[in-house]
This record gives sequence, structure tokens and C-alpha cells, in this order.
Amino acid sequence: MFTSPYADVEIPETTLYEYLFGGLSIDDLDRVALVDGASGEETSYGKLVGQIDATAGWLAEQGVGPDTMLGLFCPNIPAFAVVFHGTLRAGAAITTVNALYTAEEVGRQLADSGATWLFTISPFLKRAEAAAQAAGIPAGRIVVLDGGDPAVAAGHPSLTDVLQAGLPAPRLSVDPHAAAVVPYSSGTSGTPKGVMLSQYNLVANVAQARAFFRVTPDDVVLAVLPFFHIYGLTVLLNLALGERARLVTMPKFDLAEFLRITQDHRCTYLFIAPPIAVALAKHPLVDRYDLSSVRVVLSGAAPLDGGLGHAVASRLGCTVLQGYGMTELSPVSHAIPRDDSGNIPLDSVGYTVPNTQCKLLDIATDEEIEVPAEGASAPGQLLVRGPQVMLGYLNRPDATAAMIDPDGFLRTGDIATVTADGVVTIVDRLKELIKYKGYQIAPAELEALLLTHPRIADAAVIGVRTDDREEVPKAFVVRQGAAELGDDDVMEFVAARVAPFKRIRSVEFVEVIPKSASGKILRRELRARTAAAPKAE
Ligand code: AMP
Repeated sequence: MFTSPYADVEIPETTLYEYLFGGLSIDDLDRVALVDGASGEETSYGKLVGQIDATAGWLAEQGVGPDTMLGLFCPNIPAFAVVFHGTLRAGAAITTVNALYTAEEVGRQLADSGATWLFTISPFLKRAEAAAQAAGIPAGRIVVLDGGDPAVAAGHPSLTDVLQAGLPAPRLSVDPHAAAVVPYSSGTSGTPKGVMLSQYNLVANVAQARAFFRVTPDDVVLAVLPFFHIYGLTVLLNLALGERARLVTMPKFDLAEFLRITQDHRCTYLFIAPPIAVALAKHPLVDRYDLSSVRVVLSGAAPLDGGLGHAVASRLGCTVLQGYGMTELSPVSHAIPRDDSGNIPLDSVGYTVPNTQCKLLDIATDEEIEVPAEGASAPGQLLVRGPQVMLGYLNRPDATAAMIDPDGFLRTGDIATVTADGVVTIVDRLKELIKYKGYQIAPAELEALLLTHPRIADAAVIGVRTDDREEVPKAFVVRQGAAELGDDDVMEFVAARVAPFKRIRSVEFVEVIPKSASGKILRRELRARTAAAPKAE
């Protein structure tokens, strides 16, 4: 077992609202919390907290409270923060939905999570209405966040109505250990599952990450990582707001807009995923903008190549850090601390965060691997225990038991090494998960979809690396008898039914899918067969 070289931090048994905003000082009230990157509109901390309280008050009046699940299907806009924190303030739970999802995907998550309300924006209404209908949510419970105009809100309540009601936040005692935020993740196998995170998990992860990331009230943080994913949610909506930084929101990634906002708002801290690091290191457009305000770039959600990280650091003249985590860990378990940057290799994920224990298990035997007295250990599956470990998967006790061992260690499904000094490097992935531009793709979900095609007898999906190091899904397909079926038929079938980032990029027709005696797809065998893959778009 190994732990953090950093001393434990205090983790208060309190709600997220109390932890982040309970100590708001008079000076903080006028400080800018959120800037809408598109319009430039600013929201102060005082106004934000007022809006959070009013949202909680309105929700309570509707009967929303502990035991209620709300869906939030929305890109990064300041209102996301209001609804997210307002829901938790009302003691209810929230499931955040990927903004790129199709109506079917949204509907599936709403139904699985048991959501009875949905918050969205008017451009998403078509998908939101179809999804809500599939999940049995009535139109009167779809709240439109940008719907001040009755024509836009189309008969739905709007956030403007909610805020204008001006109701005080309910006085209730919220259990910080109850499930509060339920993002979806496929974990180490199978289809996406609701990850139950408590307010305590989220408070803990902010407390644990603070000393590593060192965001300050002087920081201007670019909020480009999606708030609906746990990485953006924790580092932006919780950590950065808790530190009283200024968050500049970007609803979707566009390189020129990303660079413009960074320049115009003098952003100092960029939380990113590796594909943005590629652009920052290599794209000619970067030279046309003044990025001299940037002090820190922190990459997470997928492996960062060390060379690439150094290229970003020297082009921007800033510190580059890497963090590691997963939805089931709220998400941060490892990071290169800002204070130690320069001493720790950039292709490592740094140290274990405080209050956290880890072990590495041999992949073949599950025996614990010794941490050496010097040098690096042998690779093994990384297991993590700490206050940021999820409560479990919603309604999936079997999947939870498979994921968390009886001692409370969570199996990450990632393969890592650790040095005598405690520096962890992720060297491979054991689980079947595919990550494309930081987004999760669950092979089991695509396989289930492929099997609904009448001309497909069997199918398997694995991730393959493109020339530019992106990971994309490749399908192995067994045709039904002598059925006529081409690559394009397969790819178009999937593309019509899933979010764009989940599209299958190549197809190989095979006679049989290799499986173990128990019927498990032998993905390693398929991986070994795959030499090269097409370039990602
Ligand atoms: P998610 O739950 O979507 O955050 O995905 C978590 C998974 O992303 C981890 O289990 C890893 O496989 C991968 N991941 C996240 N951060 C890193 C990193 N810095 N290096 C390598 N893999 C990472």
C-alpha cells in the first residue's frame, strides 16, 4: 500500500453549499464569479448565491427535496452553476447529462436515474422533450434556463420565473452522505451506470485537490471542460468557485473562440483534456493570440504525452500539470502538485492526493505489488481508497461489489507504476472503456446497439489508436448468414443512433467473435489483431 506524501487535510462533514459558500465574506459579494464567455455578462458571487437560494426555494415549494432526482441537460453557461448548486441546496439529487447525447441517450439516463424533473436550454428542447416523454417527465417539469421569453419557453417554466418568485432557500438538514450527484460512467465494464456521489464525496475532493492545484481568487479560469462531466464539475463548479476565482464559461469547444476568450478575459488557469494540449502545442492559430496571461495548464481525463506537455509549457511560457481520476472517484486521486511541478515527470500523474491510500495488484494474480525502495515498481492495476470513493452504482449492487473490494478499495481498471517517492504513472488501461477526446465510450453499449441490426449476428467493439494518438471505436462484425452488409452500413447505422463522439470509425468483418468459455469477448485478442487504424477527424 502507498499513500500521499502530503499530510491529511480536514474534511468537514457538511454540505457542498455550506463548504463552498457558507463563508462568503462581504468583500466576496461583488467579486465576479461567472462570466458568460459568449455574451460577456457577469454574475457576482453575491448574485450567484442569491440565485442558488432562490432556485432551492422554488424547488422546495414544488415538493422537490431529498429523494427527488433532477436531470440537467445543458452546456456550460452560468445558469448551470445556479441549477446545480440550487438542487443540492434543496437537498435533492441531480444527474448531469452529456450535452451531445441524442434524445434516446438522454431518455435512457433520465429513466435509469429515476429523474422526475429536467432542466435544459431552448436549443436542446426538441431532444429534451422527446427524452422527457420517454422517461415519463411531464412538460410542466421541464424548466428552460434561457427561457425569459414565453415564445422560447414554449409552455415550460423558465429559470426567470424561478428566480422572480424570490423564495427563500428551505431550512432543512441535508445528509451530506446521501447520494447527491449521479453522473454516468461505464466503470470497468458494461454499459453506463449511475455513479452515486455524496455531497461529502464532493466536499472531500475539493479539500483534497486544493493544495495540489492552488487556484486563487486572482485566477481567471476558463470553463471549457464540460460541467456535466465530473472533471469539469469538481474543478470548475466546486473548486474554482470555492476559491473565489472568476470562471469564464464556454458552451462548446472551438479553438479560435477558446483562444479569443483566453486572450480577452486574461485567463490564468486552463483546465483541459489532452486534445486541447495538442492544439496548444501545434496549431498555427495559437500564435495569433496573446496568451501571456496563462500561468497554469492542467490536463486530465486521458493520458497526456510528456513531450506534448513540455511543448505546451514552452510555447505558452506556463506551468503544465497532469491530473488523474475517474467519475467513481469524484474524480481526483492523483495529480502533479503545482508547487512540485518541474520535479515530477510530466507523463506521470504525480502524487496520490491527501487522505487517500492506493495499492497496485498484479494483473494476472491479483497479488499486491511491492513499492520498491528505489526506482519504479512493476505495473499493476491501481486501486484507490479514500473519502472521494463513490457510494456505489445506482440500483446496481452487483456492479458496485465488483468495483469496490471489501476493504473499500476501488478498482480503477487502469494499470500504473509507482516509484519509491510515490510518483504514479498510468501505463495502460485494463478495462474495456474507450476514451475519445476525454469522453467515455462504452464498448458494451455499442455492441448492444449493433446486435439490434437485423443483418448482424454478433459484434465486438474495441478502441484503436489513430496516427494522431486519439482512441476511436472499431467494430468487429459477424454478418447474419449471407446477408449483404458493408462498412458504411454499419457505421451509418450507429451514427444515426448515438452522440457524434461515439461513432464507429472502422469495421472489420469476421467469421466469429473470439470469446472465453463464459462468453466474455476476448478483447485482447482483437486488439492484438489490429495493427493500424484510420485518423480521427
Ligand atoms: P472518467 O470517469 O470519464 O473520468 O474516465 C476515467 C478514466 O479516464 C480513467 O479510469 C482512465 O482510464 C482515464 N484517465 C483519466 N485521467 C487520466 C490520465 N491523466 N492519464 C491516463 N488516463 C486517464
